[in-house]
Amino acid sequence: MTEVLHLPVAVSAIDRDYLMRENPDLFDLLWENPNTRVLALFEGKTLLRSGEAGDSPELRFLTVEEVTSAQLRVYLGKTLHDSSAEPAGSPIVLAVLSPNSAKQLEPSEKAWHQLRRSGAGLSERDSELYATALSLANWHQSHLYCPKCGSPTVIVRGGWVRTCFNDSFEVFPRTDPAIIVSVTDSEDRILLGSQASWDENRWSVLAGFVEPGESLNHAVVREVFEESGLRVINPRYLGSQPWPYPHSLMLAFTAQIDPTFAHLPATPDGQEIIRLRWFSRQDIIAEADSILLPGKSSVSYALISHWFGGQLPTPEAW
Ligand SMILES: [Zn+2]
Repeated sequence: MTEVLHLPVAVSAIDRDYLMRENPDLFDLLWENPNTRVLALFEGKTLLRSGEAGDSPELRFLTVEEVTSAQLRVYLGKTLHDSSAEPAGSPIVLAVLSPNSAKQLEPSEKAWHQLRRSGAGLSERDSELYATALSLANWHQSHLYCPKCGSPTVIVRGGWVRTCFNDSFEVFPRTDPAIIVSVTDSEDRILLGSQASWDENRWSVLAGFVEPGESLNHAVVREVFEESGLRVINPRYLGSQPWPYPHSLMLAFTAQIDPTFAHLPATPDGQEIIRLRWFSRQDIIAEADSILLPGKSSVSYALISHWFGGQLPTPEAW
């Protein structure tokens, strides 16, 4: 599928090296390799390399010696390109730390970053590694027991599978697909919604999870109808972005209002969405100082700016 949107995690900068996951001596080999780097995660937070103020943030990778204990280790793969600190081919291992290990490694709470807020500006490689690491960490945390018999599961294949201790049932990491959609009308305005828990003037495109048995197109049409009462046609795929909260994949679409039902008003569902509004490009420009739009690293920003035809004039909000 063609990716139309410019998104942080559009091209892989990691060789996932999946065959190596089968190697029974995997972690021994990784620990012997002087180029192995460890990405530490503690309660979803990670460390960033300290740079000059204004520099783009970079993940701080550690040596094997620096990370002496971990609750969970996953082999994420090898880097494909040279970077300032890691040569191409450096193996990267995720280490999920206990509170004690995290404190020992980096006592300052402020040094541990939740990247949902400060992740904008990470390189494609770092964005992908962080999204992969956090998705896997979240998945492991909620799959400690076998879904068939309730016995404990154990980690195998470099951290990419869990198997049941009792019946060997295999549990694979899950990714939950969600659609996110920019809806436009005959005047090429965009429909944005506001959620109950949000600030008064914060707006974004509509989104929702794909349900069992649905195609992506069906999910787009249903979600827009449920959240706005509007009927859309021609869903068109524009790109995707991993969203590791806890382990989703956002599939971005654009769709148009069905002219047959164009007279229908946009009616918020009152639960997820409490306000809906059609914005023209002039509205966005005129209200740039007062409306809050999604942060730049998000797929929702990419969708709105794709419709707008360039960078949005609003300040970086969230
Ligand atoms: Zn079982």
